[in-house]
Amino acid sequence: MWNFQLFVLTFGIISKIVKCQELENIDYSNYHICRCSKDYSKDVINDVIKPLTSDYDVWTRNFDFVDVRLPKNIKLPKGCQVMISDIDKAIEETKNGMHMSFPSLDQESFSVDTLGNFFFNEYRDLNTIYLWFDLLKRSFPDLVKVEVVGETFEGREMKALHVSANNRTANPDRKTIVITGGVHSREWISVTSACWTAYQLLTRYSYFKKETRYLDSLDFLIIPIFNPDGYVYTWTHDRLWRKNRQQTYWPNCYGIDIDHSFDYEWGSNDDFPCSEDYSGQEPFEALEASSWNKYLNTTKGEYKIYGYIDFHSYSQEVLYPYAYSCEAIPRDLENLVELSYGLAKAFREKSGKKYRVISACQDRGSDLTPGLGSGSALDYMYHHRAHWAFQLKLRDTGNHGFLLPATYIRPVGKETYASIKYFCDFILNPEI
Ligand SMILES: [Zn+2]
Repeated sequence: MWNFQLFVLTFGIISKIVKCQELENIDYSNYHICRCSKDYSKDVINDVIKPLTSDYDVWTRNFDFVDVRLPKNIKLPKGCQVMISDIDKAIEETKNGMHMSFPSLDQESFSVDTLGNFFFNEYRDLNTIYLWFDLLKRSFPDLVKVEVVGETFEGREMKALHVSANNRTANPDRKTIVITGGVHSREWISVTSACWTAYQLLTRYSYFKKETRYLDSLDFLIIPIFNPDGYVYTWTHDRLWRKNRQQTYWPNCYGIDIDHSFDYEWGSNDDFPCSEDYSGQEPFEALEASSWNKYLNTTKGEYKIYGYIDFHSYSQEVLYPYAYSCEAIPRDLENLVELSYGLAKAFREKSGKKYRVISACQDRGSDLTPGLGSGSALDYMYHHRAHWAFQLKLRDTGNHGFLLPATYIRPVGKETYASIKYFCDFILNPEI
């Protein structure tokens, strides 16, 4: 009871602080998001966009089109159409929840259920999410621990929820499933979906057969905010920030793309430190990536990491390794692809939403431009740690892009959790 009051009170204070800081937010009124079809015999970015402007940001690309943020003052190139004309309005919509009234806080009505209902009404900032971690720990002391994975450039903690029912010493061979979100800070739906997953596992344990079996048989290590500095920055300064906030060698350029910083097949994909996918000058230069690597090395005896799922957005895709090259053949390719289709089917059966299955190298474009897929968390985890590893790019397919309104938190959480259940069932019973 007291905890929940503290939660609501603190949430109120934090909300006010965020509102003040919003005044400094970057103004996107001179930009729009465009979809440019690949009807060209040319490369959309290099041949069409770059000659017009250097002021662009690629949101997503696939076989058929590229979504890109462009200045409104340049003529819309042939084959491009506007997807989001008012970016600032779309940003505001991600910061407004459904404004449901707070649940009554009297003793009888407080339950873990109200905690969940309240929490998932809106996107939450870092402090609120970490406070929520503590409340989960107090509500489920036998099922969850909060562990610190490492520290960021700006001194924030990277925190993991370790969810598991049994004492590991009684069951030393249990397999660990790692779930990460928020590697790219603007992909807020990946953060909420990781929190949603933890919440479902905890609240359904002992009431539902599947979750009871999962927590009795498996370990879960869930890191909803893998990039805390970037995430804070998306709340206070730039909702569309993607990288971490590390100082680079170039004085006015900040941030390394964490998903290009891991050591497996690392390569310098873009030397310009201001670019959105800057990989740093050497592997593990991003502190979040090196912290995670150190954490895994020091906890080797504790965790037998078997499965890895990395939530991103957007485009509704299930990606399997490798990202760095389409020529490298992953082990168990056939099973990897089959499992990918199983994950996609779980999404579809839950919500009707179609998720496309492709190799991560195709998604990254490393089949066409070597280097674009280097140093990913997916390849690193697949190669060094996890038997099965996937990246899930969650909703949507471009109407909102990274700026999904808060009304999507629950539906996306539900369909993503359905795919996580499929993954757990597969790991516990690979014959399915
Ligand atoms: Zn991403």
